[in-house]
Amino acid sequence: MGTIKNTISHPHNPACGRLLILSAPSGAGKSTIVQWLMKEHPELKLAFSISCTTRAPRGTEQNGVEYIFLSPEEFKEKIHNGEFLEFEEVYENRFYGTLKSQVENQVEAGQNVVFDVDVKGGCNIKKFYGERALSLFIQPPSVEELRRRLVGRQTDSAEAIENRLAKASYELTFAKNFDRVIVNDDLEKAKQETYEIVKTFLEG
Ligand code: ADP
Ligand code: 5GP
Repeated sequence: MGTIKNTISHPHNPACGRLLILSAPSGAGKSTIVQWLMKEHPELKLAFSISCTTRAPRGTEQNGVEYIFLSPEEFKEKIHNGEFLEFEEVYENRFYGTLKSQVENQVEAGQNVVFDVDVKGGCNIKKFYGERALSLFIQPPSVEELRRRLVGRQTDSAEAIENRLAKASYELTFAKNFDRVIVNDDLEKAKQETYEIVKTFLEG
């Protein structure tokens, strides 16, 4: 947790890919927007950064696809071995982290790596990669709407939903630290806006 130590190569080589960070409170619509962007715009050469987590798989999630699911012991071992670019205890006893190896392999292969990370992880990755990274904050219209979306998604228990909502107001205060804020009220509008911003960034 905290700032990233400089133990990963800075990919300043123009042949290397760039980094696209999406953060938001849970339920704001990050995954929906990222999945749409990757499916509809293969020309952007986006590759999803698969994080490690100690939470259990949800719905149809598969190990190695949405996440690498680890036991708390396995996660701790990776912390100990310095394998994470960053990690956070996003919810109590629920750890999430980005492996250095994931990012380096994808960026060096010229892919533009997409991170779906919490607000602190997002700020830390942006700080580390500077202008090679674009950080986007996906803003929900309100916390009440977040509740409706999390309930409607039908993937979390009532307790997990309350834990997520309890953190949402705090997470919303991080919006100002991101390069761009995209309000996800109308989903189609938010998708198009994200696409335009990402395209402009990658062309620059
Ligand atoms: P996150 O990845 O940020 O946790 P999701 O992408 O899983 O959020 O979205 C949470 C739920 O809200 C999903 O069921 C999704 O279909 C729905 N959703 C996303 N954007 C909108 C929107 N603009 N209006 C209504 N529902 C939305
Ligand atoms: P979920 O359990 O809904 O998949 O994710 C919960 C939160 O953890 C989301 O805000 C998500 O962006 C964040 N998250 C997922 N992977 C990582 C990671 O590698 N690092 C950090 N810091 N947060 C992550």
